[in-house]
Amino acid sequence: MDLVRLGEFGLIAEISQLVDCSDPDVLLGIGDDCALVRAGGDTVWAITTDAMVEGRHFRRDWLTPLEIGGRAMTAALSDIAAMGAFPRFAFASLAVPPDWDASEAIAMTQGLAQQAARFGACLLGGDTVAAHEHAFLDITLLGQCGQEIWRRDGAQPGDAVCVTGSLGGTAAAIAARLAGIEQPPTWQRYAAPVPRASTASALSSLGAINAALDISDGLVQDAGHLCDRSGVGIRLHTDRLPISAETLATARELALDAVQWALSSGEEFELLLTTPPHKVESLQAAIDLPLTVVGEVVEVAGVEIVDASGSPVRMTSTGWDHFANTNC
Ligand code: ADP
Ligand code: MG
Repeated sequence: MDLVRLGEFGLIAEISQLVDCSDPDVLLGIGDDCALVRAGGDTVWAITTDAMVEGRHFRRDWLTPLEIGGRAMTAALSDIAAMGAFPRFAFASLAVPPDWDASEAIAMTQGLAQQAARFGACLLGGDTVAAHEHAFLDITLLGQCGQEIWRRDGAQPGDAVCVTGSLGGTAAAIAARLAGIEQPPTWQRYAAPVPRASTASALSSLGAINAALDISDGLVQDAGHLCDRSGVGIRLHTDRLPISAETLATARELALDAVQWALSSGEEFELLLTTPPHKVESLQAAIDLPLTVVGEVVEVAGVEIVDASGSPVRMTSTGWDHFANTNC
């Protein structure tokens, strides 16, 4: 079968069938934001690896090398945050075409190392090779788990579905730039996204989160991943989506739909959390960032999207799948 039809997630499902790991220290393998491994007494480590490819994830005419490195590390930091873990040790492999200036490769590494350090992790190694045409970065990050470990498989029917921060800003920035706007108002969301590591650390000892993941493929698609792992469904309400004034202004200017961006925008790096409704207030009180209830967990499988009147909402784009999407 061709890869476009199988899709990124079909391929991952095939790969996960090939693996049969019965090591008792492996608490969780393929399928969540990180694997969970017990090592060194009772310490549990959350481990993630994230790759970024020039032309798919980033363009050198849009981002500085420092930003490219920072974004790559943010993707890994975001996965660690999604497990409620604390970033510690990073490794970065670079594949760079020989015609790049050395200073660009160095600045890219500086960007990822600085971003790691900002959130308590340090770069301990990696690998450096020549690329044929497009640069490639791969980050491995280890996070130390505390008492509470969040996973995708704990959502319970009746839970409130919450999102940190705001949604749609990344898609708005890309759309505006493609439309020729040099300085889109949400550009920093795209160029220098902030992983929700501090938010996760503030929430990780409250005993309130039933399930979590980070929004890297788009709200609806990622909500679907959480549903699959938890054996539940999610109903999302479009009138409750947190969309910034800047994103709304960009949508107006381009005559596009900010709600569709909020539903499908990838690389938002916000957290999607499920919690019993009566615990939402205490979660919000623990963090500075807005926490918005965008829906609820239901028993019927799948993600249902409804508007303020309860009518179903259709999506014009389904979210990020590497073999289906072509621009960055
Ligand atoms: P995320 O968007 O949170 O980084 P992905 O959708 O990339 O997660 O991956 C989902 C799960 O599949 C993760 O557990 C990841 O480690 C695993 N995975 C993805 N690609 C591969 C691969 N080529 N080999 C083994 N596991 C993979
Ligand atoms: Mg993730």
